[in-house]
Amino acid sequence: INYNTVKFVASYGKASQIPPSTCPEVSFVGRSNVGKSSIMNKIFNRRNLVKVSSTPGKTANVNFFEADGVHFVDLPGYGFAQRSKGERDRWAQLIGDYFDLDRSFNLVVSLVDIRHDPSKLDHQMIEFLQEGEFPFIVALTKADKLSRNQQAKQTAAIKRQLNVPAKNVIVTSSESGQGIEELREIIEQYCLG
Ligand code: GDP
Repeated sequence: INYNTVKFVASYGKASQIPPSTCPEVSFVGRSNVGKSSIMNKIFNRRNLVKVSSTPGKTANVNFFEADGVHFVDLPGYGFAQRSKGERDRWAQLIGDYFDLDRSFNLVVSLVDIRHDPSKLDHQMIEFLQEGEFPFIVALTKADKLSRNQQAKQTAAIKRQLNVPAKNVIVTSSESGQGIEELREIIEQYCLG
């Protein structure tokens, strides 16, 4: 995949507005502030293509990008940006409807902050992906904030807690670039076979 060819496609507030898939798709999910925009920008070698977390209260959308015939789907983040029950309900509806669509779910990249034990919402998200049998990997973010020794310990603990096979967990940093090339290669495997 030539990631440098990336361009913004469209933004949708409702799953029903999203046109059917016409190509392989990789979706990104995670808690607000986990580093989702940063990692997507890093994959594309772009500074500001994917906008940093929408401010609380602002409508969270599903944003589509395209590079070399592959769709990259930025799903709204969960967690602290949702202050009200209304916002949480809207997120759950949008995500639930999105994963209910009949589309090319080649790969879901589920982002988890390497520094912390997975939150209740992280557990729920990953259980949802496991139960729905979606192809997914867990990308641990912000690895530069830990030493290599701490990274190894936290990675082992998170794998155990989430009950995800070792080969489906990768350690990344948008700051240092750690794991980014590996992530690009995994995306290619799932999207282009
Ligand atoms: P999003 O809400 O998941 O899209 O998260 P952002 O990409 O906007 O990142 C949230 C904050 O974490 C920002 O202040 C980023 O600069 C910071 N951040 C993101 N990724 C990394 C990383 O790999 N290392 C470090 N040290 N900070 C990061």
